[in-house]
Amino acid sequence: MSQNNILTSAIKQMEKAREFTDISHEVIDRLEHTKNILEVSIPVRMDDGSLKIFTGMRVRHNDLRGPTKGGIRYHPEVNLNEIKTLAFLMTFKCAVLNLPFGGAKGGIIVNPKELSRFELERLSRGYIEMISDFIGPDTDIPAPDVYTNEMIMGWMASEYNIIKRQKYPAVITGKPLSLGGSLGRDTATARGAFYIIEELKKLKKINPEKTKVAVQGFGNAGFHIAALLFDAGYKIVAVSDSQGAIYSEKGLNPYHVKKFKDEHKALKAVYCEESVCDILEHKSITNAELLELDVDILIPAALENQITKENASTIKAPIVVELANGPVTDEADDILEKKNILVIPDILANAGGVTVSYFEGVQNKSRYYWPLKEIHEKLSEKMKSSFHDVYKIHEKNKITMRTAAYVLALKRIGDAVKSLGTKEYYIAA
Ligand code: NAD
Repeated sequence: MSQNNILTSAIKQMEKAREFTDISHEVIDRLEHTKNILEVSIPVRMDDGSLKIFTGMRVRHNDLRGPTKGGIRYHPEVNLNEIKTLAFLMTFKCAVLNLPFGGAKGGIIVNPKELSRFELERLSRGYIEMISDFIGPDTDIPAPDVYTNEMIMGWMASEYNIIKRQKYPAVITGKPLSLGGSLGRDTATARGAFYIIEELKKLKKINPEKTKVAVQGFGNAGFHIAALLFDAGYKIVAVSDSQGAIYSEKGLNPYHVKKFKDEHKALKAVYCEESVCDILEHKSITNAELLELDVDILIPAALENQITKENASTIKAPIVVELANGPVTDEADDILEKKNILVIPDILANAGGVTVSYFEGVQNKSRYYWPLKEIHEKLSEKMKSSFHDVYKIHEKNKITMRTAAYVLALKRIGDAVKSLGTKEYYIAA
């Protein structure tokens, strides 16, 4: 699917849900439009003395339910349509979890792997300089996403404070702990999905030891979900990164894979004849083959548009948990539905990250920091209750979990629109 179609696809998902709600058409009208968009040029002095101009963007989709919130992505293929779509998804994700936020997203067109640490810092600070009037702790709050991490969030928060000449720790979440980050934020996205899988385990009588899992993407989200499931006894048979995938019928130890990936920078490093390969006992497969494996749970945790109308009919896993944003296109979604595959949608499955980001902001504002146990308990409560809210709508209306999640979000956003008055209210006067 072309990047131009991904927003249309997300809007279609929303419209599908509309018939299961009694919301005013004004809600849909509001949500079909993006609140505001900022595109910036960021001049960066490179280490060799040259000047390079990077393009950055920040999109605020909708702030009816609170300040907007969403990650910042560094990727060479970032584009405005993608960022608009991801901002749209954030509005729904925050509503599904009942967090007091709307949706936003940001990005810079860059391959961060080609920059030195100094260049990366200058670029990150330069981006904040350019968008500092657009964001703020009560306006729009960025967080990490693909190829951005807590150090980058630390640089960004520090730059914002320099510009504003005050300390605003709540302007950005996903910061290092020493700069006001929250315990548990690093593993939150994966942990949120893990809590959902634990609920599915009860509903579907899953036996972890007999459950084969494949994870596409081995970054923050992908590694941590593989590790959490491995610790809980599930068999992780395949993992991948942008370079390719590794597979082992006996199961992989994600901690070993991570160690070798960190040492050699990519999973590619374990496609070798060295001793690590003997320890890992794997075979190399492609990312496309990983998606088609005969596993019990498939977890896309990389980028969008991975399961499309071209490969959806080859998916064998009966359960797909969308840890990435938008990994399944709407056409593919229809095919998976016909195949009776249960898809736990991104706006529910990966909401653990924004939930702990919310906790981080609450802690920043109150300047009182919670122990890890409390964060896990609060996250578990939020994820499980949202999962069951969506599951009930799914069962009652015989609709997919994705449509059910949109129904729940639309109701919540609809209430916010209604409480300020819709045509139905004014013409009744
Ligand atoms: P990350 O940068 O830490 O990791 C991304 C991983 O994907 C890397 O391992 C990379 O090698 C791999 N990858 C890139 N292209 C790939 C491809 N074509 N095939 C297979 N693997 C590929 O990013 P992340 O934070 O883990 O984010 C991953 C996904 O999860 C994104 O869709 C992101 O929007 C979503 N997400 C992340 C968070 C969070 O808190 N980090 C929260 C919600 C959603």
